[in-house]
Amino acid sequence: MEYERTGMNAIEQMQKAVDVVNTSLHPTNKIAATIFGGTPAFSLSRTNYWPDSILKAFGTNTDIGSSSGTLHAEVACILSAPVTEGASICVTDPFCPNCAKNMAEAGIKTIYIDHKGFDKDFASRRGSHFQNMSMQVCERAGISVYEVRRKEDRLVPILEIDPSYTPPNDAPVIVSILDHASEAIFLDMIADARANLQEHKFALALGRNSNDEVVALCARSHLAIGYSKRIDASELHEDSGKYSFILEPVNRVLMNAARLGLTLNPEYLYSSTVPTSRELVNVVGAGFTAMHIGNTHLARDDDALRAIKQLSDSKILKIQQ
Ligand SMILES: [Zn+2]
Repeated sequence: MEYERTGMNAIEQMQKAVDVVNTSLHPTNKIAATIFGGTPAFSLSRTNYWPDSILKAFGTNTDIGSSSGTLHAEVACILSAPVTEGASICVTDPFCPNCAKNMAEAGIKTIYIDHKGFDKDFASRRGSHFQNMSMQVCERAGISVYEVRRKEDRLVPILEIDPSYTPPNDAPVIVSILDHASEAIFLDMIADARANLQEHKFALALGRNSNDEVVALCARSHLAIGYSKRIDASELHEDSGKYSFILEPVNRVLMNAARLGLTLNPEYLYSSTVPTSRELVNVVGAGFTAMHIGNTHLARDDDALRAIKQLSDSKILKIQQ
């Protein structure tokens, strides 16, 4: 195998993640990531963490539905970054399929994994998910993945994508520019989306772009970027049932807002059905304290219904219909 020696920048960025990983409050899985890139250039590091409100109400031992109460480091980075389109992420450990889908949706183009992450018990427990799902998601999305050997000052390619590859995207998010944000406009946008998307679950949010224009962002649930239901239906299966190749609409809205550099308005987030446990934790992590839900009885699973009850009973997330 040919090794590159040109990764000095990525190696330094990885060191930034390694330097903060022990500040994670997680007792066993301490993980950190650095996101970097962009014009103008940025770089910031985050560990996995419990949002304050979840930590205060539930501590570190209670799951929210079927999800841990933590934001994964990769998602924490994406939600804090100015614009994630084309950015790179260094992460201390092999990433989970949910983060793979989210990074793909956020437009991340390169992922670096620290060599030590492959030695940990955590990596061996997650090995098959990483190989069978996270890496497949990256391949379809067109994300190159490298192992970083910091001491040897080199990058080892795990997956290199042809720069000419463009993933199919058969259900892109819909971005509309609006005059202003108001309850009436928000409700109109929801009614339009419901009419257009019919049976699909969807999410919609209002925010502002970098030109300070008011925008609406609408997404329906869809397979991870690069997968097409028409072409891939027969190939898509999960090996454990824990993960799905589908990216849920609220996660899509959050990731695309980051991708485009939008600042979401905390008053206007809508989901047509109850978001999944993992989405709800991400919503809280993204700073929302309220959201609108179309049908509060309709959810992917009972875990989501349990999660929404936990968050609304503890007043972490106010649910409006
Ligand atoms: Zn993850």
